[in-house]
Amino acid sequence: MSAETAETDGRAKGGRLVVVSNRVPDPGKTQAGGLAVALDAALKERGGLWFGWSGRTVETGTASDAPRSRRRGPVTYATIDLDESEHEHYYAGFANRALWPVCHFRLDLIQISAKDTRGYFAVNERFARVLAPLLEPDDIVWVHDYHLIPLAAALRAAGVRNRIGFFLHIPWPPSQVSSALPAYQRLLSGLAAYDVVGFQTPLDAENFQACLARDLPEAAARPPLARDFPIGIETAAFVALAREAAQDELAVRLRRSMRGRDLIIGVDRLDYSKGIGQRLEAFERYMETHAESRDAVSLLQITPRSRSEVPEYQQMEQQVAEHVGRINGAFGDVDWVPIRYVNSPIPHTSLAGLYRMAKVGLVTPLRDGMNLVAKEFVAAQPEDDPGVLILSRFAGAVHELDGALIVNPYDTDATAAAIARALEMELDERTERWRRMMTRIAANTTREWAAEFIGVLEGRR
Ligand code: UDP
Repeated sequence: MSAETAETDGRAKGGRLVVVSNRVPDPGKTQAGGLAVALDAALKERGGLWFGWSGRTVETGTASDAPRSRRRGPVTYATIDLDESEHEHYYAGFANRALWPVCHFRLDLIQISAKDTRGYFAVNERFARVLAPLLEPDDIVWVHDYHLIPLAAALRAAGVRNRIGFFLHIPWPPSQVSSALPAYQRLLSGLAAYDVVGFQTPLDAENFQACLARDLPEAAARPPLARDFPIGIETAAFVALAREAAQDELAVRLRRSMRGRDLIIGVDRLDYSKGIGQRLEAFERYMETHAESRDAVSLLQITPRSRSEVPEYQQMEQQVAEHVGRINGAFGDVDWVPIRYVNSPIPHTSLAGLYRMAKVGLVTPLRDGMNLVAKEFVAAQPEDDPGVLILSRFAGAVHELDGALIVNPYDTDATAAAIARALEMELDERTERWRRMMTRIAANTTREWAAEFIGVLEGRR
């Protein structure tokens, strides 16, 4: 099918889909992640455009407003570069030093700078300026995540009248917390400029509605449709991946080195929202209180570095490494270490096999929009002998995964007790809990998620 035919087909179904996100995936590369795959599939189905930052940063004052466009079948990928100053204030500054900590309830880590705030709104205005002329009258526009909250308002100011929806991948806290954001009112009215605002959980949607009612009453005349659209994973593909990956080289090496011991697995980007310190403490408590059986388990903590340019992240890297070292020093023996700590990212294809080998998945963030690791762990389990998920009550995934052992990650004793309970749990109970969770994640995949959001944005649902 030629690109032209595909595009005509797409239009016949009611206009193109235009996806906007901070980063645009490279159309030449195979996508590993669920989100890029799902959005790409939706774009290919109806024809469309994916617009955003190229990932390249150029010298301040030299970024061009002419987008670089590449076409693959019915989909055009259009990107612009950021200059160094934009990258510093919009991305590293406002998005990652103000929005990220506040949306994860860490008011102690917020850094407010007028330059960052200006930079954030200015980049959103530049995005709108470049995107507006690329839009066609019957396109629907789907904007992603916290970098681009003001985009709809900027597009409206540029005369765009299309349906525009927004999905927030991270939590939206209650007014008492979110009102600490710099330019809070302006962000709220930015969200109110969308036709549809989607969140990961009903609680986030409720928080947002309450913020609007309390802090932006003028939005009541024409409120956006706000509700939860919990993001899923590519469940069937992940199940298949896990079956295959259990035989791959990494899984075989790990199995050999475990010598029959039980594996507990933790997988998190190195981020303060993930509660890695509290998790290590809980594992330490488990070992203190189970001296007789502690050397029958090992915790594999996979923690790729992220945002290393931000000082808090560098500091955390050192703290976690020291903490792991202390525990291994205190409890380890010549032929056994309690914690294996890996800083390099493991590709999805191998990770699936490691999840499958684990008896326990330890997913204990202090705050998380969804947490896909929890869903992937469930999908990867062998049907005849599934492992147990221990899940924080502060992960968005808890709204769906009620078969997990649900813990308060700040409660060290309770998390340690959950580890013990998970390791001892009988097959019947493990199977019953796993089935319940598997049913949920099989019914709500990334594809359903995208179709549901698009349906609502088009007013079909
Ligand atoms: N991931 C990966 N390799 C790693 C660590 C993580 O592929 O070494 C993937 C993981 O499988 C999941 C994603 O990164 O798909 C993390 O998503 P999640 O929602 O759990 O957390 P986020 O990093 O988005 O806060």
